[in-house]
Amino acid sequence: MQNKQDEKVKDRISRFESLCREKGIPVTVQRRVILQTLLQRQDHPTADQIFEDVRKQIPDISRTTVYRVLEALVGLAVIRRVHSMGNAVRYDGNIHRHHHLVCRECGRMADWESPELNNLPMPKRKALGFHIDDYTIQFMGICAECRRQLEHEG
Ligand SMILES: [Zn+2]
Ligand SMILES: [Zn+2]
Repeated sequence: MQNKQDEKVKDRISRFESLCREKGIPVTVQRRVILQTLLQRQDHPTADQIFEDVRKQIPDISRTTVYRVLEALVGLAVIRRVHSMGNAVRYDGNIHRHHHLVCRECGRMADWESPELNNLPMPKRKALGFHIDDYTIQFMGICAECRRQLEHEG
């Protein structure tokens, strides 16, 4: 399982490298390490969390660089930005259509894969002049860990 995940990360990195070559963007160590760090996590980290991780490998990297590189990767559609109300922006290495379970207590965000939900009928394409090209569903609730804690307290 772990090896399969490693293979996937390696494959994504090499695809990123060829995309950069195509676009004439240099593949820096910083970009590669930041992308790899995000791809290795399944928890939709914030830029600060990625910064803390990346700093272990590149001690002199600045927070600003991490923010800038993440946004550049979003611009290249290599990763995605995910928003959930009231929480900091998080980043997602999973760029295929998928959905999220979001905890109202701690803000934890888990991927939810569902072929059924991936085939919902789209609203009329140009509704309100808005060109719709994708969607993601966020299910709100209380995660297992928070539920355990709430039960202990109550
Ligand atoms: Zn929670
Ligand atoms: Zn996700």
